Amino acid sequence: MSDIFKKIGDTLSDAGKTVGEKTKQAGTVAKLNAKIISSERSISESYSILGKYYYDTYKNNPDEEIAETVNAVTAAVETIAQLKSEILALKGLVKCTKCGGECPVEDTFCGKCGAELEKPEPAPAEEEVEDFEETEEVEAPNIVIVEDADKTDSAE
Ligand SMILES: [Zn+2]
Repeated sequence: MSDIFKKIGDTLSDAGKTVGEKTKQAGTVAKLNAKIISSERSISESYSILGKYYYDTYKNNPDEEIAETVNAVTAAVETIAQLKSEILALKGLVKCTKCGGECPVEDTFCGKCGAELEKPEPAPAEEEVEDFEETEEVEAPNIVIVEDADKTDSAE
């Protein structure tokens, strides 16, 4: 019995001797871990820039191995644009393709830059579908994965 207490006592005093050392060591480890996290963050940011660069350069002609990811970005970009224009339409606004200004949908020309405003395409479903009243499952026909997005900035 007393042996056990002796052992515990020895262990505790051993621990006591090295507490300062261990604290110092823990501090050093924490600093090194912080440097690792900082470097990992730097890698992530660089990967992000590389990815953006690759996307901007090769989005129309990606390598086969990465095409799925590139197309996923394109699809998400298209979806965001679509959703944003839906929000604008709900507010009775349309976005100028030239300057990005938000103009009343009834205007023909942009109030900021004077460019002709592109009217939002009317939803094609309304004419064709007769029993349209309470259909919940409307497929979104405007969300399309555009493989060559050369329709942007074609005005000039
Ligand atoms: Zn404009």
